[in-house]
Amino acid sequence: MPGPFVVPVHGDAELPAEVDVVVIGGGIIGVSTALELAEAGQRVALCEKGGIGHEQSSRNWGWVRVAKRDPREIPLVLEAQRIWHGLNARTGRDTGFTQAGILFNAEDEREGAGYEKWLKHIDGLGIDCRMLSGAEFAAMFPQSRLRPPAALYCADDGRAEPQKAAPAIAERARECGAHILTECAVRGIETSGGAVSAVVTERGTIRCRAAVLAGGAWSEMFTRSLDAGIHLPQLKVRNSVLRTEPHDGGPEQALWAGDFAIRKRQDGGYTIASGIGNIVDIVPASFRYALDFVPALKAEWRALMLRAGWRFLDEARMPRRWSLDEPSPFEYCRVLDPKPSRKLADMAMASAQRAFPALASAKVAQRWAGYIDATPDAIPVISDVAKIPGFFIATGFSGHGFGIGPGAGRLMADLVLGRTPVVDPKEFRLERFVDGSKIELLAGY
Ligand SMILES: Cc1cc2nc3c(=O)[nH]c(=O)nc-3n(C[C@H](O)[C@H](O)[C@H](O)COP(=O)(O)OP(=O)(O)OC[C@H]3O[C@@H](n4cnc5c(N)ncnc54)[C@H](O)[C@@H]3O)c2cc1C
Repeated sequence: MPGPFVVPVHGDAELPAEVDVVVIGGGIIGVSTALELAEAGQRVALCEKGGIGHEQSSRNWGWVRVAKRDPREIPLVLEAQRIWHGLNARTGRDTGFTQAGILFNAEDEREGAGYEKWLKHIDGLGIDCRMLSGAEFAAMFPQSRLRPPAALYCADDGRAEPQKAAPAIAERARECGAHILTECAVRGIETSGGAVSAVVTERGTIRCRAAVLAGGAWSEMFTRSLDAGIHLPQLKVRNSVLRTEPHDGGPEQALWAGDFAIRKRQDGGYTIASGIGNIVDIVPASFRYALDFVPALKAEWRALMLRAGWRFLDEARMPRRWSLDEPSPFEYCRVLDPKPSRKLADMAMASAQRAFPALASAKVAQRWAGYIDATPDAIPVISDVAKIPGFFIATGFSGHGFGIGPGAGRLMADLVLGRTPVVDPKEFRLERFVDGSKIELLAGY
């Protein structure tokens, strides 16, 4: 596969005729949902059009953080961190989770004041997250030339290995009885009396009472093809990443320093990316959802670079609807593998090398990019869909779904099962985009 090497998960040969729940998409959200449901005794099939974790879930930076989170996500990310701590034992596999800490540098006093303000959202929650003075930062990183006036330091945060985590969870879900179907695109759903009755895949139909869409950057296209008037504003944001060969001398903690972000890898190398450089390819959906995204574009214009290019034609050519007995666009693109911006990735590397001189001789091993699935308020949709009973959506994690993923899977399973939800799901409901709610971008992408 293109992109980083992902621990392979072999798909089941047999397609079940009937299950309780079909999960569409085998990223961290889909596999976490499938595991929760299978552990709860549900008959589950997970359908992935390509391989487990081959899109965003293996391409991300690997940060697992509360720090600087949108306050609406904090209860769910705390649940996710609780799950991360036990995930190796629960799956019997290595996810690479380590509680090594995360820092955000303040470039100036104003940014520092913003971090101080954010800290109030976690007051009294018992989270080890605080401001560091410039001197404290210098003492923590004596090997660095960076000398910020202050930094936000969250010792409780950590990292995990994106190329290992989703496969580990999927394998455990299978051991708990879930069918794991790879190269198995879902073309659409069938309803009976308006409610979900089956999911139609490229390999046949699976009868079910519920379907969970965890399709990452494809979710908007899927919901639009249903022709059910579902408004799911979602755009793709391209982030470019590189990894180095194993090398000593960088930070143990993950660190965001504006022009670069760095995270130590389990293989001894570093994952490095621009901390601010994201490309928004202009596509037909950009016009469709322009009004939804105006406030976000205004707030984030510094971090988002709009680009017109081949992607517009590519998406314009894709059919909007298809018959369920014909191949769908999901079968034509097994892995969404955008071209990395070499310039942005290499600029980030150069900044990291200036900040940590010991990295000057580090070698770049690989570059890749991923499409982030962004919503207008940069928080996910984890919700039922009132228009189609039995249909649920968990998507739009806006560049921070890896860390929160296991918690999101738990919440999604609660909603499907009608259990008391682990956190209040109100902020994540789909209807917020149409019911007159104020859509606010609180923490950015
Ligand atoms: C470069 C980059 C850096 C990031 N850094 C971080 C980070 O440090 N920390 C963090 O918390 N988050 C980070 N994120 C965000 C995080 O990776 C995502 O939010 C998270 O992985 C989303 O998981 P997902 O399961 O929703 O989507 P994905 O991992 O994209 O999975 C969706 C899956 O659905 C499948 N699919 C879609 N449609 C169909 C269909 N019709 N039938 C079958 N299968 C289908 C796709 O093939 C895909 O595998 C980053 C993202 C990127 C791109």
